[in-house]
Amino acid sequence: MAGIYIHIPFCKQACSYCNFHFSTSLKMINDFPDYLIKEMSLRKDFLQHQTVDTIYIGGGTPSLLTADQINRIIDSCTTYYDIIDAPEITVEANPDDLNTKYISDLLSTPINRFSIGIQSFHDIDLQFMNRAHTSAHAASAIQRVQDAGYTNLSVDLIFGNPTTTDSMWEYNLNKFINLNIPHLSCYALTVEEQTALSFKIKNSLIQPIDENRIGSQFEKTMQLLVSEAYEHYEISNYAKKGFRSRHNSNYWFNIPYLGLGPSAHSYDGVNRFQNVANNQKYRKNIIQEAPFIIQDILSSNDRYNEYIMTRIRTAEGISIIDIKDIGSRYLSHFTSQINSFIKDEYVRYHAEKYTLTKKGKLFADHISAELFITD
Ligand code: SF4
Repeated sequence: MAGIYIHIPFCKQACSYCNFHFSTSLKMINDFPDYLIKEMSLRKDFLQHQTVDTIYIGGGTPSLLTADQINRIIDSCTTYYDIIDAPEITVEANPDDLNTKYISDLLSTPINRFSIGIQSFHDIDLQFMNRAHTSAHAASAIQRVQDAGYTNLSVDLIFGNPTTTDSMWEYNLNKFINLNIPHLSCYALTVEEQTALSFKIKNSLIQPIDENRIGSQFEKTMQLLVSEAYEHYEISNYAKKGFRSRHNSNYWFNIPYLGLGPSAHSYDGVNRFQNVANNQKYRKNIIQEAPFIIQDILSSNDRYNEYIMTRIRTAEGISIIDIKDIGSRYLSHFTSQINSFIKDEYVRYHAEKYTLTKKGKLFADHISAELFITD
């Protein structure tokens, strides 16, 4: 089993918090599928004929592509890789692109899941984040996608904005629930280096992020969504039964994936790889068949730390058997560290699995950092 991630590195404008790889110059976008398809041909053996069950077109802003371009890209995946009969095919889309004509065009593609970057249903938040859409766009785009017959939808929301009061956040959650969307990806606003947000905080143009607000909004999210029968299956992800993201779940469960496009990451089950994060260099090197990938060889410490970092965030948690497989020295390190978290009720142990309690979920990053091994 394997997945394919395709990075579309273009955006209309830069959101204030975003440090993903993208360019606001759209000059390359018409020819971009040609480069992706050439990359597929150059890397046709990467997955070694493992069966691909998910394709995820992310970015950047994939909804800047036409339906014809998306069809070409997905068709080429089936040419170069062994795709199962009914793969999950997700496209990330921004609300301002999801007009009636575009959605109707997309019906001609095999896309069967949308991940829509809503972020907030309040204009003041959207302006603060420098999003290209308005709150009116947000709700109407979701409605149009549902009216076209798509049921497998996910929405992204961001909490902890200085502009988002707790009651505004609760409004966002209720709006999401009332729109009958089966999946939510929900992230705290994070200050990344080299973003407009970081610049403004460093220069005291806006207040730093309030950790208490992040905590209270995270807790409200858990409480409200779980009461509405959403499963909190990963720290940042909630799903109704049968609507977990198969693609993202594969990342957390160590399934290999091929990443295509500038900055995309790949994992072959042993090591990680990253494509050059520069559109022009990517284009030039793909055309000339010059190297464009950096390999990151994982040590067993890296494998253990990555396992802890990803699996502690999931509902399935950390398994003793998995740790034993990485190496017996990791098991003794882990068991010596985990007991204090169990005693303080941050972690529960059941059926040979360690999972975070509700209280522990607030401190997931801290707990995993304490469990890491560095020597
Ligand atoms: S958040 Fe999404 S739309 Fe905004 S700049 Fe980043 S990749 Fe582009």
